[in-house]
Amino acid sequence: MGTVNRAEPVPFPLPGEAFPRPARPERSAVVDLAAVRANVRRIRELAAPARLMAVVKADAYGHGAVPVARAAVQAGADALGVAHVAEALELRAAGITAPLLAWLHTVDTDFRAALARDVELGVSGWELGPIAEAARELGGTARIHLKIDTGLGRNGATAQRWPELVRWAAQAEAEGLVRVVGVFTHLAVADEPSRPETREQLRRFRAAVDVARAAGLRPALRHAANSPGLFSAAGLERPADMLLDMVRVGVSVYGLSPFPGRSPQQLGLVPAMTLRSTVSAVKDVPAGQGVSYGLSWVAERPTTLALVPLGYADGVPRSGTGGPVRIRGRTRPVVGRVAMDQIVVDLGAPGLSAPEHGLVGAEAVLFGAGEHPSASAWADAAGTINYEIVTRVSGRVPRVHVDTAADSGEEQA
Ligand SMILES: *Cc1c(COP(=O)(O)O)cnc(C)c1O
Repeated sequence: MGTVNRAEPVPFPLPGEAFPRPARPERSAVVDLAAVRANVRRIRELAAPARLMAVVKADAYGHGAVPVARAAVQAGADALGVAHVAEALELRAAGITAPLLAWLHTVDTDFRAALARDVELGVSGWELGPIAEAARELGGTARIHLKIDTGLGRNGATAQRWPELVRWAAQAEAEGLVRVVGVFTHLAVADEPSRPETREQLRRFRAAVDVARAAGLRPALRHAANSPGLFSAAGLERPADMLLDMVRVGVSVYGLSPFPGRSPQQLGLVPAMTLRSTVSAVKDVPAGQGVSYGLSWVAERPTTLALVPLGYADGVPRSGTGGPVRIRGRTRPVVGRVAMDQIVVDLGAPGLSAPEHGLVGAEAVLFGAGEHPSASAWADAAGTINYEIVTRVSGRVPRVHVDTAADSGEEQA
């Protein structure tokens, strides 16, 4: 590797910022913890007086569970929620002491470890057996939340089995093995506020709580609302029927809208993740140039192509052709197929590979906040939802946590 003599004309476009310091990762998902805190404060304001459980499953929807959980608690989240006990144990291992609920179990779930680390457990049916047994072995009391299926058809006891589950739980409570601290359900169509099923789910939920109380249970925490439930509560006749004692909010903590037609800004949220890299190569091509496997895109006129080193191995959906990338203040589409390691962006004008444009090394942002393209735009391009776009960013992309409020004197909750 020789040095480049800048006095000699060179045939290839040089980096605009010639040989930038290598401290910056080549690719990163930059997560702004100040945005997470601002979103948590916004959500708390809407949910009050109900409490807030911040859902940090799936590595906080790809944002990094431990730093996000800390930021959420710092901003006033009362509890944290995850799907799996293993996820809860990772948070405990990192020293996070906030109340923590895990709700999706298998016969292989380590309930003893969960109880030993003070992890609360969702119970839909059979799990009560091994959880009570683990509590007996450890000489403690498991804190559980009973889950009723009010219509989603996933986990949770059916209305038919609910009285039986409630009686079993009351018996285990009498033996000191469990304490039923909560009753919860999950909504199916809350992102479509005009649909009638949500109201029916909430009605069934109230009936289930009545059954639990009649059996002598005293669950202090009734919870049903996810992000779309929270944001649609204000449109209900009685918002408290939705907000109950606690809301379980995930995607909005990350600054994403749970509604297809509404932006984060409209909901008072700030997207926390920016997926970025830099342009790694740039070339002028003539009309007729095909791009990427299958040559499914062919230039209709002379143009400039920018290569961005993020592909489906990084979590960019292979079906995301047409997805937006912001380079030097302009948002341009991905053309041709998304490959394992890279995408090609059509810059839309010829001649941009000339050195004076300095495009090699220019920041390339797939999605982020503000003027950047949104995760939702990528979801639209790929035929999925914004939840999946952020969650699927792979382990090949380092998460870089920043705090844009660190020097701004932001109020701490
Ligand atoms: C993922 C999940 C949530 C959070 O849903 P969002 O739509 O991301 O707010 C809440 N409750 C349960 C049971 C979940 O699985």
